[in-house]
Amino acid sequence: MERLKPVDVAIVGGGWTGLLMAKEITSRTSLSVAVLERGQPAPLPDQASMDELDHNIRYRMMQNIADETVTHRHSSSGTAVPVRQYGSFNPGTGVGGAGEHWGCVSNRFYPSQFILASYLREKYAAGKLPEGLAVQDWGFTYDDLEPDYWRAEQMMGVGGKAGNLRGKLIQGGNPFEGARSHEYPNPPHSMSYFAYLFNKASLDLGYHPYPIPSAALTRTYRNPDGVERPACLVCGYCSRYSCMIGAKAQPSNTLLPILKTKKNFALRTGCWVHRIMHDGGKATGVTYTDAEGREFEQPADVVVLSYWTANNNRLLLLSRIGEPYDPATGKGTLGKNLTHQVNQGLQLFFDKPLNNFMGAGGIGMGIGEFEGDPGPNAEGTLRGGTIRASSGGEGPIASWGKIPPGGAKSNWGSEWKKAGLQWHDRAADLMGECEHMAYRQNYMDLDPTYTDKFGDPLLRLTLDWTDHERAQAAFAIKIETEIGKAMGAKVGGPVRGVGKLYDVRYYQSTHVEGGVIMGTSPETSVLNTWLQHWKMPNLWVTGGSTFPQNGAGNPTLTILAVTYRAADAFIDRYVKNPGALA
Ligand SMILES: Cc1cc2nc3c(=O)[nH]c(=O)nc-3n(C[C@H](O)[C@H](O)[C@H](O)COP(=O)(O)OP(=O)(O)OC[C@H]3O[C@@H](n4cnc5c(N)ncnc54)[C@H](O)[C@@H]3O)c2cc1C
Repeated sequence: MERLKPVDVAIVGGGWTGLLMAKEITSRTSLSVAVLERGQPAPLPDQASMDELDHNIRYRMMQNIADETVTHRHSSSGTAVPVRQYGSFNPGTGVGGAGEHWGCVSNRFYPSQFILASYLREKYAAGKLPEGLAVQDWGFTYDDLEPDYWRAEQMMGVGGKAGNLRGKLIQGGNPFEGARSHEYPNPPHSMSYFAYLFNKASLDLGYHPYPIPSAALTRTYRNPDGVERPACLVCGYCSRYSCMIGAKAQPSNTLLPILKTKKNFALRTGCWVHRIMHDGGKATGVTYTDAEGREFEQPADVVVLSYWTANNNRLLLLSRIGEPYDPATGKGTLGKNLTHQVNQGLQLFFDKPLNNFMGAGGIGMGIGEFEGDPGPNAEGTLRGGTIRASSGGEGPIASWGKIPPGGAKSNWGSEWKKAGLQWHDRAADLMGECEHMAYRQNYMDLDPTYTDKFGDPLLRLTLDWTDHERAQAAFAIKIETEIGKAMGAKVGGPVRGVGKLYDVRYYQSTHVEGGVIMGTSPETSVLNTWLQHWKMPNLWVTGGSTFPQNGAGNPTLTILAVTYRAADAFIDRYVKNPGALA
C-alpha cells in the first residue's frame, strides 16, 4: 500500500455535502483539501442526456448495486437478504453524488421537528406515544438554523413564496412554516395545469396552497459566490437526469466552479475509500483503492465523512469507530435511529390532457396544514406531512400504461393499448410525504454474511413500518381523495407507498437518514451538534446520517444548512483551536 503525502483535510465523498465543506474550507482557509470520490467526474451540461431508458429506467447515474448494496430485514429476529435491484432508494455515485440527478425540491423542516422529543413529551401523555419511539431533539432550534437555511437557498437560487416573513403571515405562501428572515431568492415557477387544478380545489376546500420551493431556477440568477446560471426551460428531464443547461442546482454547477479556482483543492475520482485510519482517539487518514486497483494510504489531520447515509454508517462500523447500537439493550449509538420517508400517493385521472411531459423538480403546489402536528382528524398519527401536486416531467416510458380501474377491458393486448392511448397524459398522482419518526427497533449494523466487491461486509438495515406510518399513509390518502375529487378527477388506486411491511422493491425516496446522529450527549448521539465526532474531535460527518429522525418533505436543504453550520464551527473555531467543541 503506497503512503501518500499528507493533506490537511481529507473529505470522503464528493456529493452535495462533501463539496460544500470543501468549498467553504478552501475559500476561507489555506488548508489543503483532498476530496476522494469513488465515481467519475460529473457530466458537463452538453454531455447530459434526455435518454429516458438510460437514466430513468436503467438508472445510469446511480450507484452500481453489483459493486455495493445493502441488506434488509424487517426485524432483528429475521435474516437479511441483499437488495439486488434498484428499489426503495437510489444512492448516487460520481462527482456531485445524488445531487447531480436529484429532484431539487427544497423545503425547510418545520420548527417542531428540531425539538421533536420535547415537543411530543409536552403535548402527549407517555401512554399516547408509540411503543419504542426513539425520537430525539437535534440540540439546536429552527431559529438557530434559519441563517444557514437562507445561505443554502441563496447558494442554489431556490424559487418560492414565503408564507411567514419575520412573523408576518403572507397569502400565497405556506402560513404554517417557520418564520423566514428573507423572501426566497427567486420567484416560484409558473403553475402547471395539474398544479392549477390542485391550487383551485385546495382553496375551495379552505386549505392554504403554496408553490413548492424549487432549486431549478425560475430566472437567470447569480449567487453570492458569483456563480451565474440560466432559467429552467421546463424540459421535463429533471429528477434522475443531470440538467442540460445548468438551471437545476447541482454541486457541479454551484460548488465546482468555485473549487476549480482554488489552489488548495484536489479532487480525486475513482477512489473507493475502505477505512478511516485512527489511533483510537484521533483519525489519522483514510485508505482507498483507485480505479486501477492500486491501494493507498492518505494521511490527513482532519477527516470529513460525506458519503451519504448508508456509507457513512458503514465506514464507521468497518473502521471500528464508536459503539455499535444494540436494540436489545439500547446501548451504543452508532447505527441507531434509522429513518426513511412515509410517502403515500394517490392516482388521479382527468378528462383533459395535462401536458405532463413538461415540468421540472419542484414545479407544483402543496399544502402544509397537516405537516408537523397533523391536527385532530388524523386518527392514530402524531406527525403528518405535506400533500403535493407535482409536475416533475414524465417521459414516454414511465408515463405509459396508467389506466383507471375499469378503464380497460383487458390488462394486455389491443384493448389495453387502446385504453393506454386514451388515458395517456390524463393521469397524475397526488403525493403525501410524511415525517418518519425514529423507533428503537429500526437501525443499521454490518451484515454477518454478505460482502461488497472488495470483500467487506455490507450494511444491514433492520427496518419496518409501524401502525403509526400506516395511519399516516391512510390519512394522506383521505386528504388526497378529498382534494382529487374537488379537482374533478376520477380517483384511482394508491401509488406504491406504505404497505403492511416495509418493501424494498418500490421507490419511496432517497431520503434515508440517521445512524450517525447528532445530539447533546455522547450517551445518546455519535456527533455533537457541530457534526464533530464525540470520540474523535478531528473526525467530522455530514449529510442525512446526522439527523435524529426525518422531517416531512425533502431533506437536502436542511442537510446543506446543517453543513454550513458545521463548516462555520470547523473554520471559525476548530481550526483556530483544534479539540472538542463545546
Ligand atoms: C432520484 C433522486 C431524487 C432526489 N430528489 C430530491 C429532492 O427533490 N429534494 C431533496 O431534498 N432531496 C432529493 N434527493 C436526495 C438528495 O440527492 C440527497 O439528500 C443529497 O444528495 C445528499 O447529499 P450527500 O452529500 O449526503 O450525498 P451524495 O450527494 O449522494 O454524495 C455522496 C457521495 O459519496 C460517494 N461515495 C460513497 N461511498 C464512497 C466510497 N466508499 N468511497 C468514495 N466515495 C464514496 C458517492 O459516490 C457520492 O458521490 C434525491 C435523490 C435521488 C437519488
